[in-house]
Amino acid sequence: MVHRAINFSAGPAALPDEVLKQAQAELLDFRGTGMGVMEMSHRGEVFMAVAAEAENDLRELLAIPANYKILFLQGGGIGEFAAVPLNLLRGGAKADYVNTGTWSTKGITEARKYCEVRVAASAEDRHFTYVPDVAAWQVRSDAAYLHICTNETIHGVEMPFTAAPPDFGVPLVSDMSSHILSRTIDVSRYGCIYAGAQKNIGPSGLVLVIVREDLLGKPHPHCPSFIDYSLQAKNGWMFNTPNTWGVYLAGLVFKWLKAQGGVAAMEKHNIAKAALLYGAIDASGSFYQCPVARADRSRMNVPFRLGSDALDAEFLQGAEALGLSQLRGHRAVGGLRASIYNAMSIDGVAALVNYMQAFRQRHA
Ligand code: PMP
Repeated sequence: MVHRAINFSAGPAALPDEVLKQAQAELLDFRGTGMGVMEMSHRGEVFMAVAAEAENDLRELLAIPANYKILFLQGGGIGEFAAVPLNLLRGGAKADYVNTGTWSTKGITEARKYCEVRVAASAEDRHFTYVPDVAAWQVRSDAAYLHICTNETIHGVEMPFTAAPPDFGVPLVSDMSSHILSRTIDVSRYGCIYAGAQKNIGPSGLVLVIVREDLLGKPHPHCPSFIDYSLQAKNGWMFNTPNTWGVYLAGLVFKWLKAQGGVAAMEKHNIAKAALLYGAIDASGSFYQCPVARADRSRMNVPFRLGSDALDAEFLQGAEALGLSQLRGHRAVGGLRASIYNAMSIDGVAALVNYMQAFRQRHA
């Protein structure tokens, strides 16, 4: 038996065993070609079929309407922080951003290189532990777009309304890097959705962009070709050589998701996992604490801490000894964080909860 940790990494994160085993089995000889998928032309028939399957399966999983392009690009979430203004300002000079944490903040900083950014709402006043009331967001009617990060990976704050986001009359752009495919969304309410792959899609080095066609065609004149949505859409996202290995693995993850019952089934599973873990935190009489407002707690990234840094460290050490891995919180906020993406089973969460209870009893 291969040793597999119960892996709570925030990303690059655990992938389903079934996916990794299939990739392993096909590594040297993909579909009878005598070569691995990494070793063949991206324009050959065999890889083109892989690309089309990945796109079709994703379109089905997220019910992506026909007037949206799917692009598999490179440059990750941070690359998109630049790509978004460079593609979506469309000759405009203003964009509005909601600031709910580290990733929103980085997006704002990057966008300020290209346009005048106004922060429509910010949760910085309470250390990014909540989503500001939508009724108070101040969005300019002449902003080229409104940008939100619907799941803040570090702070563990998730916007609860992804299936019916607010409409301010300007295109809504969302960074869904850390919760895409974990819950149902209504793509038609967004102008653009993007997500780095390394949490719920596949390996790092791949970023997914879903963009409404009418927003294409007016890139910034200095927009680099490889992140130019219009050019990439025209070229079937192969203006440059794509991350073929990443697309292949993403395709396997999409097939795995379909076999699990799709996004709605995954959402149920994720609700159950999150309830189990937050339940254990809340039932601990403040032995474990999660700083995030209950309504805005992320189902994917669960930050928590104990009473002191020393206890956090002891907890981590004991967890590692049991194969409960990568629970250290992000260096920006400290403490602990359990990332429980799609590939994390309920048994994995139960193992963490059992350890949390035992650890608490030992320190009672
Ligand atoms: N946005 C979010 C929500 C993220 O979690 C991350 C990375 N963890 C990024 C953007 C940046 O992604 P990358 O490092 O792939 O550029």
